[in-house]
Amino acid sequence: MATDFPLIFEHSKEGRIAHSLPDLDVPEVDLDEVLGGTFVRTEAPGLPEVSELDLIRHYTALSKRNHGVDSGFYPLGSCTMKYNPKVNEQVARLDGLAHIHPLQNPKTVQGALQLMYELQEELRIITGMDEITLQPAAGAHGEWTGLMMIRAYHEKNGDTKRTKVIVPDSAHGTNPASATVAGFETITVKSDENGLVDLEDLRRVVNEETAALMLTNPNTLGLFEKHIVEMAEIVHGAGGKLYYDGANLNAIMSKARPGDMGFDVVHLNLHKTFTGPHGGGGPGSGPVGVKEDLIPFLPKPIVTKRENEYIIDEDRPQSIGRVKPFWGNFGINVRAYAYIRTMGEAGLRAVSEGAVLNANYMMRRLQPYFDLPYDTHCKHEFVISGKRQKKLGVRTLDIAKRLLDFGYHPPTIYFPLNVEECMMIEPTETESKETLDAFCDTLIHIAKEVEENPEIVQEAPHTTVISRLDETQAARKPVLRYQKA
Ligand SMILES: *Cc1c(COP(=O)(O)O)cnc(C)c1O
Repeated sequence: MATDFPLIFEHSKEGRIAHSLPDLDVPEVDLDEVLGGTFVRTEAPGLPEVSELDLIRHYTALSKRNHGVDSGFYPLGSCTMKYNPKVNEQVARLDGLAHIHPLQNPKTVQGALQLMYELQEELRIITGMDEITLQPAAGAHGEWTGLMMIRAYHEKNGDTKRTKVIVPDSAHGTNPASATVAGFETITVKSDENGLVDLEDLRRVVNEETAALMLTNPNTLGLFEKHIVEMAEIVHGAGGKLYYDGANLNAIMSKARPGDMGFDVVHLNLHKTFTGPHGGGGPGSGPVGVKEDLIPFLPKPIVTKRENEYIIDEDRPQSIGRVKPFWGNFGINVRAYAYIRTMGEAGLRAVSEGAVLNANYMMRRLQPYFDLPYDTHCKHEFVISGKRQKKLGVRTLDIAKRLLDFGYHPPTIYFPLNVEECMMIEPTETESKETLDAFCDTLIHIAKEVEENPEIVQEAPHTTVISRLDETQAARKPVLRYQKA
């Protein structure tokens, strides 16, 4: 990758412009008059002045530095960076889906409403829940939406002392964050020596103040919580609700359903499991499914079907209200719908089987070279530890940086928090055995470098445009805007 263009950062030259516009052929307006003076700039904004060619080269160069699923292997644990089928993009760009307006009369957009209704139905069946909302914009937003419904449910029952949400120590950071934003206090439950929720500790922390337990299954270590039925009994027995973080659904589709495991609320990450492109901060979609007794609290409106017409149902008096403008991130929902309809039930089952097989294959190949904290079959992802390498003076961060030299996006590192020096690897089902082998060979090669030539790892990356960043400076004093010289 290195530098295939000269590293001139500043291209600006006074007076250079990238556009040529026709002469104004409408009357000029006085901006002060139109905007009442308040919003009119008094100084030019200090933008770079560049030619059209400079502009194109700048963005083309940036795009070439970008790493994405379309350019290379991206085993970022917990993120399900699978291939985004291009047919989904074509479907999302169909005129009748891309060029409609959310405020159009529902009678004129029956096809779009049908798609939303059918997606709700598909997700209802996939999760084993009773009703779905497509509104939340991402996983964390779905978590918050689900918890607000649980809150409304307890309040409706006059159960106002339920102020605590229990989360495992391996939980994704968004879980405690969403619980806090939804007005709950979070209580941590420990993992046992097998990496699963410690049932004794769960019994200890559950009581009449428990609003809910938030859990992802398989959990963040990639392990299936075998005692989920007992856990559901403990929490339900004390009057609490069970929240399922569905970001790991890729491991269990058409195999096991959160609804059947006893969960009351689940969110899905359509931008992970269901192939919505993600990773650049682009739009996500985090639909939430609920069981019967929580249906009244779902965000409104919901798309429903009356006789032969799809309608937008606003008449939901107990709803927690709207959580997103318009109808959610419709374009991502279209892609997920196209994916589900392409795959079918058997296809989704094959996805999960492939994802689990790939993860177990890599885990066993890497096991001799790295520490494996939980030596048991994993689901769609697994966690290895660089403890052995740390004893030789090389941190997991160094190993991740070294992977960049070989053109890989590193796995997630230092998460989950309960495993020292960890790397969390999620290959997904869309990668070939050759790709998995090449990545394993590279990690094994780096493990040997750590023993023979640790400096090369400690000082990596060597081949990228920018080498080691000063991470403290980058976090404390980020320069995020162009500043004219
Ligand atoms: C990605 C993820 C989330 C958050 O989802 P976003 O769409 O990024 O908000 C929550 N929990 C788990 C386990 C995840 O992997």
